[in-house]
Amino acid sequence: MVFRYFFDFLTKFHLQLNRMLKILMSSICMAVVTPCLTASIGDIEPMDETLTRDSIPDSHKWNMNLYYSSWEEWDKDVSRAEEVYTEMSGYMGRLKEGPETLIKVMKLSDEGGLLLDKVFGYAAKWRDLDTRDNAAQAKFGQLIQMWTRIGSLLSWIEPELLTIPQETMLEWIDQNPQLEPHRFGLMDTYRTGKYILDESGEKLLSLHSGVRGTSRRIYNALTDSDGDRPTVKLSSGEEIVVTPGTYSMALSKFENPEDRRAIQEARMEQFDKRRNTFASIYSGIVEQNWALAQSRGYETSLGMKLNRNNIPEEVVMSLVDSARKGADELQRYHRLRQKFLGLADYGWSDMFVPLLSVKEEYKYQDIVPWIVESVAPLGKEYQTKMAEQFASGYVDVYETPGKTAGAYNSGTFGVGSFVLLNYQKTLNDVFTVSHEMGHSMHTRLSQEYQPFATHGYTIFVAEVASTLNEKLLLQKLLKEMDRPEDRIAFLEQQLSQISGTYFLQTMMADFEIQAHKILESGQALTSDRLTDLWRSVVSAYFGDVIGEDDPYMRSWARIPHLYNSPFYVYQYATCYASSSAIMKQMRDDPSTVDRYLGLLKSGGNDYPMEQLKKAGVDLTNQEILNAVSEEFGNLIDLLEVEYTRYLENQRVG
Ligand SMILES: [Zn+2]
Repeated sequence: MVFRYFFDFLTKFHLQLNRMLKILMSSICMAVVTPCLTASIGDIEPMDETLTRDSIPDSHKWNMNLYYSSWEEWDKDVSRAEEVYTEMSGYMGRLKEGPETLIKVMKLSDEGGLLLDKVFGYAAKWRDLDTRDNAAQAKFGQLIQMWTRIGSLLSWIEPELLTIPQETMLEWIDQNPQLEPHRFGLMDTYRTGKYILDESGEKLLSLHSGVRGTSRRIYNALTDSDGDRPTVKLSSGEEIVVTPGTYSMALSKFENPEDRRAIQEARMEQFDKRRNTFASIYSGIVEQNWALAQSRGYETSLGMKLNRNNIPEEVVMSLVDSARKGADELQRYHRLRQKFLGLADYGWSDMFVPLLSVKEEYKYQDIVPWIVESVAPLGKEYQTKMAEQFASGYVDVYETPGKTAGAYNSGTFGVGSFVLLNYQKTLNDVFTVSHEMGHSMHTRLSQEYQPFATHGYTIFVAEVASTLNEKLLLQKLLKEMDRPEDRIAFLEQQLSQISGTYFLQTMMADFEIQAHKILESGQALTSDRLTDLWRSVVSAYFGDVIGEDDPYMRSWARIPHLYNSPFYVYQYATCYASSSAIMKQMRDDPSTVDRYLGLLKSGGNDYPMEQLKKAGVDLTNQEILNAVSEEFGNLIDLLEVEYTRYLENQRVG
């Protein structure tokens, strides 16, 4: 419910965003949350020459004056936010008085939330534009401290609300339209309230909350600061130090398969030689999840993780089922890649190099019209508003010194929806722009059509808008571009996206569901057991494409999000399935567009499963999930055609 967000902010990049956090950080894209998610594993590529901010026209930079014209104005809002929350804390013990009191508290909650949204948005953006800017860092730090203070000031609200009977609360809402925007949030408090313990129980759990992060911290220290950085001698004689960054770069760039494999082996070494340590750490994570789930009265760890957004367990189970059934297409794709790449042996280290080394550059000014034209099927309102988003200071396009890496969208209610890019003219960047503009439009439409209380949407629906836009862009490009080299690059981009987002993320979920089940049934998670489990899961998806001796067969210990965000990444797969289903429906049923726009305009006014159902996507229906494998299969067919054309042209040429 509304007040829980204060405590989660610090861990926003790892934990599921809760309701109010979502309001603050309406759409943090996967590129920021978990940079290792997509199959395109190498996204750290500096530009030849880095631009200065002064040399970039205003049209290609964020207009920070949309927030404030100076830090002095920001200071005033920070003080006002403190006042609002202090006033709110004065209502402690008074909620039962009646709806009039609750209305006053909710008004203050909205006012405070709006102010926080704005001051955080401003400070975070300055910090991200130049991470070396100490002043912006200090302002951000100031907000974090304020955040903690406000959190403890308001910790009484949720338990006190729950002492009011739900029927009474419903009557209050029915009779007072001012409470209507809060209906969903208030009712959700009662739904989740049954898992909240009494005061002493909650206190005990909160005393242990820091300890629950220990395994994760050990994993991160052991792999980051204390991680091994082995050196590998390449076939060229050059030596390379293997870090997570060079590993990703090597797998997507090195043309010699032996070099790629050597890098993969070297990267795995530290995990292999400490496999028992990593098994203990991972077991610690699973044990903590299970202990917390049992303390709160959940039947499974998965159930606990899904409860926040009211997602039924069967959705995740049928996702796993559907991805396993579609895995023969995944295997077909990689067998085809092996053939096109002309490799006698093929494995994990060969899955990321492009089929053709085309060095096409895409200028930003050329691709903006493509992206705007590509969304024509979504109607005039959508297209016009997207063109506005591009034109008026909401997109920060280029890499500049100190700017934070990656790409994301972040909206501020009443101010706008902003996109950060580090555009470097690659095809991947072109699709990233389309992706982020999908988030940006979702954020804007939710802000325009929802009140503050319900404008923030969940990660469970967030990636529908972004991936749908990528699909629309691909559709347009394939329609208009004829050169097989280009078409192969476009197709590969989407195929690797589906492979990385849908199949791989579901495979991770599959593994963690089973690992948790093993522990929940009273068995120990030893290194051997985890490796056996991982092998069986990898084989279920990749068949014999990944051989028994491939280092990937031992690599469960390496996967950061198994440690950092358990039961989280499956949401990218369900989002992907949803946008595939919507694309398919759009071809047959013209009313799909209105339903889909309804989803984008609905913010977080209902549970995500219900929102998707209203848009025509029932994720409990296997057929909906199967749309991805079908789409994947069609793209592979096209790739085969284009590759044959390419070879034909080469022969003729
Ligand atoms: Zn995204």
